[in-house]
Amino acid sequence: MSGAFQAPRGTYDVLPEQAAARERLERTARRLLEGAGYRRIETPAFEATELFARGVGESTDIVQKEMYTFEDAGGRSLTLRPEGTAPVCRAYLEHGMHKLPQPVKLWYLSSFFRYERAQAGRYRQFWQIGVEAIGSDDPAVDAEAIVLLQALLQELGVRGVRLRLSSLGSPETRAAYRERLQAHLHANAGELAREVRERIDLNPLRAFDSDHAGTQAVMVRAPRLLDELSPDDAEHFEAVCALLDAAGIPYEIDPTLVRGLDYYTRTVFEFTSDALGAQSGVGGGGRYDGLMEQLGGPPTPGTGWAAGIERMLLAADSTPVPQPVVDLYVAREDGGRDDASAAFALAAQARRAGLNVQLELAGRSLKGQLKQAGRLGARFVAIVGGQEGTRLRDMESGDQESVDGADAAVARVLRGRHPA
Ligand code: ATP
Ligand code: MG
Repeated sequence: MSGAFQAPRGTYDVLPEQAAARERLERTARRLLEGAGYRRIETPAFEATELFARGVGESTDIVQKEMYTFEDAGGRSLTLRPEGTAPVCRAYLEHGMHKLPQPVKLWYLSSFFRYERAQAGRYRQFWQIGVEAIGSDDPAVDAEAIVLLQALLQELGVRGVRLRLSSLGSPETRAAYRERLQAHLHANAGELAREVRERIDLNPLRAFDSDHAGTQAVMVRAPRLLDELSPDDAEHFEAVCALLDAAGIPYEIDPTLVRGLDYYTRTVFEFTSDALGAQSGVGGGGRYDGLMEQLGGPPTPGTGWAAGIERMLLAADSTPVPQPVVDLYVAREDGGRDDASAAFALAAQARRAGLNVQLELAGRSLKGQLKQAGRLGARFVAIVGGQEGTRLRDMESGDQESVDGADAAVARVLRGRHPA
């Protein structure tokens, strides 16, 4: 089959045996997030390219090299969403959500697209669960969001979780700091990795992320943004830390933490798992008080996070998810055409009564049908056709009895059903 199609590089199929674990993840997230007042939002899979250019930032890796951008037949430049925050903020502005009680708390579970080097835990179409709380600059909003992600990871059984936390301050503090950092980098340019040197003017903060030894040595001596926060920003950060302490959430303050997106202000954080190897980030986020203005809206504070579904599943304990119970398997005595419609009618009626029913669909012999029902763990098998009419077999006891019509068969199965 070497000529047959395969899924594009960096994409994957969710097969039925994997779907159950994803559904469990989704259910857990929904319960936690909706329980805390977050409501679901879904935005389109593509947006105007300009939204991400402005809302993620021209200097970011995402905008510079990871976007799937195309022109549609009408000549518009569109981009498959690489992240969820800018689209949700666009929706907040477009639908006048500032008129609702603030903060507006939204969550999403969607797929995102980035042209990246495909490897374990890094895909070109991947899924995220995310939250955005828009319209309040209270440090409790940041802390609450962090606590919710921590709770989600804990409930899912994600192993080896660590939380790193920092503050990026205000845009003004950052601009002043950026200049000091650039001066430090220029003064030590000879020791830096080439790609760091080339990006000193574009994105000097990224130098903290480098795994190049010479660069790292320079960065150990670099000025730290956390030491230069304005009094307001420092107070905000201390408040977030105090709330996490109050909630008993362990964290490490990491002044080198740099998020990939340009629009973060104040709080930034990342959860990693040591069960993941190189792609260790499970989820992260932060505050983005400057983003709404970037998008043409009024000044509006916001905070949020996104967590990768593939990575959460990779790093979680994989408890097997039970198959749904089969209450009734409808088999056919001899495979004749009359039996076929009687069997079909019985299955339909039993399903209307709320039972989980499977119908013989592969033309097996009666023996083969009973074997298949056994494999599925069916509680009862109805054998339709034959001389004595429909018979019902209790698969646990092996007892078999004649039943008088479909009503009686359904009633009997309902009585003998496994407690849900
Ligand atoms: P990384 O450092 O791994 O590139 P990131 O900083 O780009 O992550 P975010 O944009 O903050 O990640 O996205 C939040 C989460 O989404 C990540 O922590 C990760 O779990 C997941 N994620 C990001 N990119 C991918 C990808 N290409 N494939 C799978 N999951 C991803
Ligand atoms: Mg990335």
